[in-house]
Amino acid sequence: MDLGLKGRGVIVAASSQGIGFATAEAFAREGAQVAMCARTEKTLMEAADKVRSQTGAEVYAEALDVTDASAVQKFTEQVAKRFGRIDVCVANAGGPPAKNFLSILPDEWRRAVDLNLMSTVYLAKAVIPYMQRHRWGRIITITSISVKQPIADLVLSNSVRAAVVGLVKSLSNEFGKDGILVNNVAPGYTATERLQELAQIRALAAGSGQQQVYDAWASETPVKRLGDPKEIADVIVWLASERASYVTGQTILADGGIYRGL
Ligand code: NAD
Repeated sequence: MDLGLKGRGVIVAASSQGIGFATAEAFAREGAQVAMCARTEKTLMEAADKVRSQTGAEVYAEALDVTDASAVQKFTEQVAKRFGRIDVCVANAGGPPAKNFLSILPDEWRRAVDLNLMSTVYLAKAVIPYMQRHRWGRIITITSISVKQPIADLVLSNSVRAAVVGLVKSLSNEFGKDGILVNNVAPGYTATERLQELAQIRALAAGSGQQQVYDAWASETPVKRLGDPKEIADVIVWLASERASYVTGQTILADGGIYRGL
């Protein structure tokens, strides 16, 4: 199936590892030009080299924090200068810490809003004018199944990511006329470094081993295993493609069926 992504200018934010990295690699395999960012220069450059050497794609990488509005704006301008266009933006970031409500400090709430909501706002604001020029664009946010089914001890994620879904729907309404489609991908338990952190916290709280935590997540999931980051990346790439040209304002779960609602 031709996804129509060859030559597209694609930003994948927070892409030195995990779902972001797998997504950058998947776009590169489709022949897109890919821009990657993350906070730590060394790991980001290694990740970008890996994508280049495995796919032969043109990759631009810049170390930045997605909670810094002016850094995001400058990055976007650089990407547009190098690629001549920005067609796709995957608004990814790390996840907020796993904590229960009474232990969360006001500053931690603000950091979670900055990390997961404001980073998406900054990226969308920066890329939309470039997409409007060509009357074609795709913005894809990465949230979590927590937007459908809150997860114990992830109060920050449960709360802030719901605002991202509201933003996605609002942007899809406002910019559909410009050919810009805006969707959200909500992963379930996916084998990345982030999940390792969560497994450690859960294991400590339960006095069990990490493997038991992983096994429990897998057995709760109808397909009886964790997701591979590449499986989430495939959904993101499809949403960005010409093959998803009438899909906007949606949350697509890539969760092995763990969300139990209709
Ligand atoms: P990860 O922790 O493995 O990778 C996160 C990436 O974001 C890294 O490249 C990191 O360097 C980068 N990053 C973090 N904070 C940043 C910042 N302020 N500025 C720039 N880059 C930053 O995470 P992951 O598992 O790939 O998850 C990606 C997103 O999906 C997260 O929001 C996570 O909470 C969410 N999610 C993950 C799972 C899962 O099971 N892995 C499930 C649901 C939702």
